[in-house]
Amino acid sequence: MAEYKTKLLIIGSGPAGYTAGIYAARAGLKPILVSGQQIGGQLTITSDVENFPGFAEPIAGTELMHRMRLQAHNVGVEIIDDHIVEADFSQRPFICSSENNNIYSAQSIIICTGASARWLNLESENKYRGFGVSGCATCDGFFYRGRNVAVVGGGNTAAEEALFLSNFTNSVTLIHRRNALRADQKTQEKLLQNNKINIEWDSVVEEILGSDNPLSVTGLTIKNVKTDKRKKIKVDGIFIAIGHHPNTDIFKNQLDLTPEGYIITAPNSCQTSIKGIFAAGDVQNPQYRQAIIAAGSGCLAALEADKFLNEN
Ligand code: NDP
Repeated sequence: MAEYKTKLLIIGSGPAGYTAGIYAARAGLKPILVSGQQIGGQLTITSDVENFPGFAEPIAGTELMHRMRLQAHNVGVEIIDDHIVEADFSQRPFICSSENNNIYSAQSIIICTGASARWLNLESENKYRGFGVSGCATCDGFFYRGRNVAVVGGGNTAAEEALFLSNFTNSVTLIHRRNALRADQKTQEKLLQNNKINIEWDSVVEEILGSDNPLSVTGLTIKNVKTDKRKKIKVDGIFIAIGHHPNTDIFKNQLDLTPEGYIITAPNSCQTSIKGIFAAGDVQNPQYRQAIIAAGSGCLAALEADKFLNEN
């Protein structure tokens, strides 16, 4: 057990957290960054990244996050692999305590705890995650040019991912557990008019089929929940788009959150409902969920934290 005192505590080690750390360290704030359980965040469970500027060739998500961590370390961020389990924002300094029984006392905090994709929780989904099973079409879609893919879900994300994928894949099968979509009307119309997209209504994925050498997806077994009939469909990739869960449980009752649990920040700012506490990345932005956007908001949060600390 140790007690750390810092001007700025950053919670989370995705693109938002590391970028906030890099800017804060270069501003002389000597930040402490607590990594959380999934060190490197969501990019560590994707495959190659082709849309993060600065890399002419695709870079593995794990490698990209490793490089961000090294960069943060090299500019002076103190990185501690620990997990915050409790937060007390009732007065400054703010106090956070961790899984390892450490206490972090901070004059300001940037929360970058992200959002976790919801998964179907199938064994086969786990097995092929990053090898044909993806949680993000914008990130991984281009690896399926000219191939057949499936998308699971019936909300805006699933509909938009299906439409996006239809631009360059051979076919898209949208699998939805009910017979009505949750996506907005305009998006539904586009979906229904798109002749590359076929919808399997009232259907759930029972198993993701694949081969071991190389590890890859080859198809799915789906079940119609009304008729109980099963069928196999051939796909090379499956995108799970059944929503995200923001990692804000420990901040409930302390910060203003949306009904879905995302942290509310002031317009064009990372300022939360408590002065001195900022939020950056997917934890405050459910709409775009892109690493580059998270990184940008991490930068903004660090600039705002620096200004706050100078003024207070
Ligand atoms: P949603 O919660 O809107 O939709 C999730 C979908 O996944 C639902 O259709 C749900 O089915 C289905 N689902 C949930 N759990 C399972 C499961 N275990 N098995 C199978 N299917 C499941 O999430 P989204 O990510 O689509 O959207 C989140 C929010 O962001 C929404 O408010 C959305 O409108 C918004 N958004 C807006 C965009 C835009 O404006 N351009 C783009 C993307 C998102 P069921 O319908 O039966 O509950």
